[in-house]
Amino acid sequence: MLFWLIPVAVVGGFFAILSVRAALFIPKKGQRVEGGNAAPVEFDAERAVTSLQRMVQLPTVSNYDKSKVDPAPFEAFRALLKELYPLVHKYATLERIGDGGVLYCLKGKTDDAPTVFMAHYDVVPAHEEQWQNPPFCGKRKDGELWGRGTLDTKGTLCAALEAAETLLQDGFVPARDIFFSFAADEEVAGDDAPSIVDALRARNIRPALVLDEGGAVVDGVFPGVTERCALIGTGEKGMMNVELLFESAGGHASAPPPHSPVGVLAQAVNRVEGRPFPAHLTKPAAEMFDTLGRHSTFVYRLIFANLWCFKGLLSSICKKSGGELNALMRTTCAFTAMRGSGAYNVLPPVASVGANLRLCPPDNIDSAKAYLKSVINNDAIKLRVFGASNPSPCADTKSEGYARVKTAIEQTWQDAIVSPYMMVACSDSRHFCKISDTVLRFSAMVLSGDDRKRIHGNDERIEEAKLKEAVAFYMRVISAS
Ligand SMILES: [Zn+2]
Repeated sequence: MLFWLIPVAVVGGFFAILSVRAALFIPKKGQRVEGGNAAPVEFDAERAVTSLQRMVQLPTVSNYDKSKVDPAPFEAFRALLKELYPLVHKYATLERIGDGGVLYCLKGKTDDAPTVFMAHYDVVPAHEEQWQNPPFCGKRKDGELWGRGTLDTKGTLCAALEAAETLLQDGFVPARDIFFSFAADEEVAGDDAPSIVDALRARNIRPALVLDEGGAVVDGVFPGVTERCALIGTGEKGMMNVELLFESAGGHASAPPPHSPVGVLAQAVNRVEGRPFPAHLTKPAAEMFDTLGRHSTFVYRLIFANLWCFKGLLSSICKKSGGELNALMRTTCAFTAMRGSGAYNVLPPVASVGANLRLCPPDNIDSAKAYLKSVINNDAIKLRVFGASNPSPCADTKSEGYARVKTAIEQTWQDAIVSPYMMVACSDSRHFCKISDTVLRFSAMVLSGDDRKRIHGNDERIEEAKLKEAVAFYMRVISAS
């Protein structure tokens, strides 16, 4: 009889369902706004570049050790803003909050929930000898402006204020209050942003939209997608440092125990690396797969259209490959610091290994610590957690604030596909989640792979054309605020 046909038909039917789902998994109608209809915006592009040039020439380098920070360039930076943006200083109130926090408020016509545009004006140190041009020279060459902070984040700070100044020249009054919140210690996880949040909370202010640094307009970040993507961080992973400590009697290395402290810790490291945290399909990742997956090749669409069946496969691909896609799917644990004996012939009385974890929701500080403990399975190894913060809540992509940012992006980078994503690094914006449901992370510029390496690296610089696009973006998003 033909009973053997039954399993063949089932398998065939199964693949037919997967293929039909993949074939139907195409961009949704209305996923892209008609950016082409956007009116061009006019502003003084040359002034924007020279303004950023002057900002970059001030070496506002922050340091975890406050006694090592030179306050003069920070003071000069705040004075420079007054000089460059007279109308912002005429129409907006200005407060100094915390050590170097700066908060401007431009009054709106209504009491509707306000908007906050964030940036930071401190920068990380630069190893001058490794740069082609000095890091604080602000040199203009071949259409590029050189200097530490051009990308992170004096560029967007400058673009936001250039946009506001230009709009104010034409008598612009926002529909609702607009805040510009600039920290001077973001790179050292300082108190400026939390202090500003505390001040706003004390006034019962709940912003409808908070926009900070984060994703950007990027190429080649999603498998099978050739178009440019504008990634808006709708959530941010948490972070924690863990020290694995093992104490022993120490002693001379000539008569060691069968397992040295270093050997015990090495075994623990091995166990953790051999059993990565479980994968989670977070809301931002699911939305990203649902948005960008539709623009991918058929093979990838087969996977992303059928995650109900391929989630396990995707998880193991990510586990093996590591990198950004893996970081999007699970809590990562990078072992970074080791400490043992100071001498080769002495057993260490205390040995330790340090790890930096990035927490993917729903994992949190407590659950991640418990997972490590169970995987290590050795009570003699003590875990010390410090520098920890839980993952942020995720913003709603159906919110009015998200739509406002998405539209301004589509009007500025008309060929880019806008997508939510989960930010794997930390930003000051996480503090604002206490007072706003719509905290978005988008650095308003095109960033190539090389640009991204230069952030915190050598030879940081920005193409002047990219700064101009950033100003255009801010003019659109501020006008709509
Ligand atoms: Zn940075």
